[in-house]
Amino acid sequence: MPSCHSCERMTDRDKGNAPLWDSIYRGDHWDLVHAYNTSWLGWLVLVLRRHVEAIADLSPGEAQELGALLRQVSQALKKETGCSKTYVMQFAESASHPHVHFHVVPRMPKQAPEDISYKVLRHLGVPLNERPSESELNAFAHALRGHLAETRI
Ligand SMILES: [Zn+2]
Repeated sequence: MPSCHSCERMTDRDKGNAPLWDSIYRGDHWDLVHAYNTSWLGWLVLVLRRHVEAIADLSPGEAQELGALLRQVSQALKKETGCSKTYVMQFAESASHPHVHFHVVPRMPKQAPEDISYKVLRHLGVPLNERPSESELNAFAHALRGHLAETRI
C-alpha cells in the first residue's frame, strides 16, 4: 500500500507522539482530531482507525460508533463555539490520504454568505500563516475534551 498521511498520523498517535489537537479523542474505531490545514478554528475531523477508502466498506461497529460520535462531537462543538449546527463532509479524495475521514465543521449563527454550505471549504488547505497557532489549537482541543467528557463519550 502506498504511504497514507492519515495512517502515518495514526501511527504517531499510537506512539504518543501527537500534539493534543491531533489526538482530541480516541474511540474504538475513530480518532477525533483538529484539521491541520484550515483557517477555521473548530474544524474537526473523525478519522477511521484503519485504512478504508470507501464508506461502503465500514464494519457495522465502525458505522455505529460513527453515528454516535457525529452527534456527540456536534454537541461538544455547539457548547464550545455557540454554533447553530454542524456541517459533515466526507470525500477521501486526497492523493496523499485516500482514507475515510469525516469533516465536522461548526456552522455559526451569523456565518458570512460566502462561507455557507460547501463554500466553507475555501477555509481548508490554506497557507500556514492563515492557520490558528499551535497554542490556539491545543486550547481548543482541551476545551473540547471537557465538553466530550460531559456528554459521556
Ligand atoms: Zn490510511
